[in-house]
Amino acid sequence: MKNLKRTDKEIAEAIYNETLKQHTKLQLIASENFVSEAVLEAQGSIMTNKYAEGYPHKRYYGGCEFVDVAEELAVQRAKDLFQAEHVNVQPHSGSQANMAVYFSSINAGDTILAMNLSHGGHLTHGSPVNFSGKFYKVVFYGVDKETGYINYKEVEKLAMLHEPRMIVAGASAYPRTIDFPRFADIAKKVNALLMVDMAHIAGLVAAGEHPSPIPFSDFVTTTTHKTLRGPRGGMILCKSMYAKQIDKMVFPGIQGGPLMHVIAAKAVAFKEASVPEFKQYQKQIVLNAKALSGSLTAHGFKLVSGGTDNHLMLLDLRNKNVTGKDAEICLEKAGIIVNKNMLPFDDKPPAVTSGIRIGTPSLTTRGMKEKEMETIADLMDQVIAHPQDESRLKQVSDQVLKLCEKFPLYKERREEYQNV
Ligand SMILES: *Cc1c(COP(=O)(O)O)cnc(C)c1O
Repeated sequence: MKNLKRTDKEIAEAIYNETLKQHTKLQLIASENFVSEAVLEAQGSIMTNKYAEGYPHKRYYGGCEFVDVAEELAVQRAKDLFQAEHVNVQPHSGSQANMAVYFSSINAGDTILAMNLSHGGHLTHGSPVNFSGKFYKVVFYGVDKETGYINYKEVEKLAMLHEPRMIVAGASAYPRTIDFPRFADIAKKVNALLMVDMAHIAGLVAAGEHPSPIPFSDFVTTTTHKTLRGPRGGMILCKSMYAKQIDKMVFPGIQGGPLMHVIAAKAVAFKEASVPEFKQYQKQIVLNAKALSGSLTAHGFKLVSGGTDNHLMLLDLRNKNVTGKDAEICLEKAGIIVNKNMLPFDDKPPAVTSGIRIGTPSLTTRGMKEKEMETIADLMDQVIAHPQDESRLKQVSDQVLKLCEKFPLYKERREEYQNV
């Protein structure tokens, strides 16, 4: 930090302020997490300097012997962690991982069957504003209006009717266990490929807290920075028979030089994910989500599908007379960071929404347990019940600060900035 402070005070200050904010606010965005110092050291390392187009021992540049070590470790550890036959750790992001799978296995104009964005799917699952919606014919499935669970009968009916080349399972805002064997059966019936995007639940899968999609899918894609708690990035896991086409599509198909510093950090994160403490951590994420959803329900909040099986939940705020947008704003004033989120069958536009999505990975990383979840549900209830009451928002934010001080984050980084 001392060099950065000297060279660029504005960025140093922005980073410090972000560090302070991560420490002093309650971070409930379900797709975020706090990485370890070890991951940060690897990601902030001089491996950023190295060009390494190609794959270990088959590079287009000389001098790759040490970045090869990093990539081979990342690949081997990911294979072990998820019991995958083949792994590509080079995708720069989850979106790039999905792009590589589509481009390598289906043709422009082919039909894909994927989850509706407003029912919990992802932009890259065929949204009209995304490349996936522009290149492919997209048919969407969703959740049942009454239960909030994926309607597998509808998935099957749509698959029979439209005969997609690929079925996409996986979501960004679905609080329930996904039935991968059922998706595989449907895909088999219509001779479609199955891609599972486990970006949100990868950590749970690694720890056995969510059934693995690996045995049932042709391709599994993921991010490495959500529940998996690694650096920002993507990854593809697949059967050996697809290894060549995937590797060729990632490079040279859609990317140039891999981010070797990020790949080194991925290797570190996979090592961290292979120990018993990580299993315990993932278990606690789920326990905390159950505790938080239980307490919120007790405060009269309505949850899509009535609860959660995983790390996240969707709050339907219509009975609280506040929009997702306004809830996001007043909660932020009180030091609680969430994101507004479309609900299934939402009648409000995406910039407003009727709900918020919240998750427990970040809270759990800083050591919070069921007792803190009860407190947080109570604080959220106070805010949502009195969104305009500035003095109450201030009171809540004081309580948030006190709670955060008991579970400190990045202490040395904050002190270092102060001291140089
Ligand atoms: C987060 C997410 C992605 C995209 O990840 P980026 O790294 O932001 O591109 C893809 N799919 C799903 C289901 C996600 O939740």
